[in-house]
Order: sequence, then C-alpha cells, then structure tokens
Amino acid sequence: MKIKRQKHAKKHMGFYKFNFGFREPFQVLLDGTFCQAALRNKIQIREQLPGYLAGATQLCTTRCVLKELESLGKELYGAKLIAQRCQVRHCSHFKEPVGGSACLLSMVEGGNPHHYFIATQVRSFSF
Ligand SMILES: [Zn+2]
Repeated sequence: MKIKRQKHAKKHMGFYKFNFGFREPFQVLLDGTFCQAALRNKIQIREQLPGYLAGATQLCTTRCVLKELESLGKELYGAKLIAQRCQVRHCSHFKEPVGGSACLLSMVEGGNPHHYFIATQVRSFSF
C-alpha cells in the first residue's frame, strides 16, 4: 500500500515538476494546524514528507504562523516546537501579523512564483 502511494506521489509530482516548474527540494510551508495534526498522529514530518512528495523537501513556515502558535499558548506548544524548526520565510506582514492560513495563502498569491506547497489541515483553504 505504502509503495503504491509513493508511486502515485511520483506521478503527481512529475506533473507538477513538468507543468509548473516545481523543483527539488520542494518548499513546503507548514501552518500550525498541520504541525498539530502531525504531532497528534505521531507523524515525523521531516522523515515522511519526502516520501509523500517523492523528493527532497525543505520545511518552511512564516512569522505569522509562529506568532499565531505563540498566541495560542500551552496547548499548541508541541506544534510550535515543530514550526520553530522550519526555515522562516519572509511574508508581507512584518508589522501586523495575520492568521497562519491567511498568511500562507498570501505566500502563493500571484501564481505561486516561489513554488510553495502548503501543508495545512484547514479544509476551507481556497484559492
Ligand atoms: Zn505573514
């Protein structure tokens, strides 16, 4: 099952690479909900994401996501630790942080020029 899923991933990623110019390492922007879900389900993002995306990945996040996690306090402490180990990418909300998902959405505006993947659990995420 797992191998099959990775095969599928390879096929999908081939599509993204070919059509949209995605290149390894794939830049994956994580939000707090994703970190929290990974923690809850005991998923080692760093080890497992490359398998899902069939290639080397670079985990990234933004200051807004970190700020949001900080403001949510103790309950999301573990998620915050995961997010803190990601590379922090600059967003446009330097002075006024916005919500994590709003921030990530802004990172892929304008046709996603930096070729980010977004890892979130927010279902209403719409482009
Ligand atoms: Zn931001």
